[in-house]
Amino acid sequence: MRPQRTEAIILHTFPARERDKLVVFLTPDHGKVKGYAYGARSMRTRFGASLEPLAKVRIGYIERESDEVVRIESVDLIRSLFPAQQNLAASVAASYLAETVDTFAQSGDPAELIYRLLDRTTEALLEGSVPLRVVAYADVWTLRLAGVLPSLRNCNSCDEPLGRPLRFDAQAHGFVCTRCGADHAQVIANDVAEVLDAIMRMPVSEFALRDVTADVLIEVRSLASFFRRNFLGHELKSFEMLTELIT
Ligand SMILES: [Zn+2]
Repeated sequence: MRPQRTEAIILHTFPARERDKLVVFLTPDHGKVKGYAYGARSMRTRFGASLEPLAKVRIGYIERESDEVVRIESVDLIRSLFPAQQNLAASVAASYLAETVDTFAQSGDPAELIYRLLDRTTEALLEGSVPLRVVAYADVWTLRLAGVLPSLRNCNSCDEPLGRPLRFDAQAHGFVCTRCGADHAQVIANDVAEVLDAIMRMPVSEFALRDVTADVLIEVRSLASFFRRNFLGHELKSFEMLTELIT
């Protein structure tokens, strides 16, 4: 039995048995972890309200060699998501962030970068940033961290540097140069390409302050959606719901 104590962000919780919760949480050093919080559904639980999606916590748990699911011993709240949940769009955006990260984060491996992405994007929602900007940022960066986002600098077919306008070729699964994509590639508007660059370059706190129109963000998200569907074989459950609610 190995006791661990670490910072974590709760991704999802499920009711388990009569009084318990199964909790999926993300840690910087051990990636995604699943654990039982015994008695977490009873009235006087020692876990209080700390086991809510996207709560940032300090969590203590015990790993057993033979078991994939850890036993959660203690949870102390560092940052609750409560204020953002009073705003429907921010709340739906937060669920979407949790689903995205849950889909892409692995168990067992260090996940420092994706942890930091989730931490900073959640923080941005809590600070009242426009939800659509935050989710477009998270869409692009999760793909980037998963190694799924094709290069924005070099042609996906011949590796020549890309100019403007950017051309997207669904068959080549990426962006292509004028020569490779002359006849069939879709031309990406310069303001969309510029936003993709800005997302790569800036922390979310800075990107969220930029005045980007909803149309451009929707275009960025639909490109991200293409690469994600290609990789996963399906789209995330909350993608459509989110699009309806926050635009
Ligand atoms: Zn080329």
